[in-house]
Amino acid sequence: MHYLSTRNNELKESFLNVLFQGLSKEGGLFLPSAWPSISIENLRGKNYQEIAHAVISPFVQEDISDEDLVLIVNKTYQSFNPKSIAPLVNIEKNKYILELFYGPTLAFKDYALQFLGNLFSHVLENSNRKITVLGATSGDTGSAAINAFKGKNDIQVFILHPHQMVSEVQRRQMTTVGEKNVHNIALKGTFDDCQKIVKKLFLDDELQSKTSLTAVNSINWARLIAQAVYYFWAYIQSNQEKVNFIVPSGNFGNVFSARIAKFMGLPIDHLHIATNENDILHRTISEGRMRINNVKKTHSPSMDIQVSSNFERQLFESAKRDSDMVQKIMQSFAETGEQVLSDQIVQDMQLIYTTHSVSNSQTLETIKYYNEHYDYLADPHTATGLYVLERMSNEQPAISLACADPGKFGNAIKEATGNLPHFRPELENIFDQDEKMTILDNDTDLIKSHILELI
Ligand SMILES: *Cc1c(COP(=O)(O)O)cnc(C)c1O
Repeated sequence: MHYLSTRNNELKESFLNVLFQGLSKEGGLFLPSAWPSISIENLRGKNYQEIAHAVISPFVQEDISDEDLVLIVNKTYQSFNPKSIAPLVNIEKNKYILELFYGPTLAFKDYALQFLGNLFSHVLENSNRKITVLGATSGDTGSAAINAFKGKNDIQVFILHPHQMVSEVQRRQMTTVGEKNVHNIALKGTFDDCQKIVKKLFLDDELQSKTSLTAVNSINWARLIAQAVYYFWAYIQSNQEKVNFIVPSGNFGNVFSARIAKFMGLPIDHLHIATNENDILHRTISEGRMRINNVKKTHSPSMDIQVSSNFERQLFESAKRDSDMVQKIMQSFAETGEQVLSDQIVQDMQLIYTTHSVSNSQTLETIKYYNEHYDYLADPHTATGLYVLERMSNEQPAISLACADPGKFGNAIKEATGNLPHFRPELENIFDQDEKMTILDNDTDLIKSHILELI
């Protein structure tokens, strides 16, 4: 298997090159040349790590030996507690919640970033190479990446987050680690601004050659394959023939991982995308018109995104892998902030995706309702999915993803239920530790020189 790009379908890159490169030279995102299929029957009875090995292996086997992959996967999920790694909770007939907050920073990002950290260490171990990890975060990617890379000698970590637009717990999880290789930048702008700067810096030759920049955002291909694993896991646990998933979405990474699972043969019927009031995905897929609005601050900050990077991967698939067409669409979208998609592309997306936009008040009402009705406390991101789950008939099985521990979003929980959530031990002492971050203006050159200075 080799890798091509959404803006150049003739590329032939190896997995290792794709792993360390954020974007292709044309600015596109990497995808495999063909989708491998996997035998679902062979996965039955396996534990999470064994399923992870089976799902990830076809994508990496030319570069990572089977034995090494087993070691990397086992190391990755060793510290996740409980041992089921990702429990599937059955709340009612045919209605399930897949809990993905048992990694070190208590959001689903750990499931892929801990894997990425161990994968990087493995590859760098026997080389003299040093890398610089650069990422933008709407809240959870940053802490998960910092936790995965902190204290590693050959890796410097730079994380940009939108100043005053992440929750206090999310910020403190990033700024209190106290390791020399971790650098937090609070950007005076939105997440979209952070992401734009990161994308520009990846195409900056000077910075690239001086720092060996590496992407950890969900544009990183290895993250998406590690996330595909829990869709297989959930399906097997459910004992159903065919399932629907409901995925709270921002950057389109998590739901595209579900799409990967479906490409590989997992019997998924429909994928329901839940967005918050930043509903560009909902408008694009339901109406066929991509148009950027201003970013609104909501109770689910990790979904406060207008430009969803990974959407380009879906666009490429729906355009029958025509990279010239994708290039044209993305260029015109970047120039005008607006783009109408062809009927053929929109219909292709609607065959699989159904979208929903959930308001701030509906999010809080859903938290309250699940708490009272099912004795289930959901974080505000998870609640956007549960809003959709509640409105589905229970004739067909549906699995809604629980994206983060409610303790990360105490204020929203208090507003919804009247009480602060219980804080897991991982969060207890971050409130009295010193914070370290640099607040900088929304200016690409400024960020570039800041990075060069610290390297
Ligand atoms: C990242 C994140 C999301 C959005 O996932 P995408 O992959 O960006 O679509 C939703 N909820 C939480 C808690 C997250 O951390």
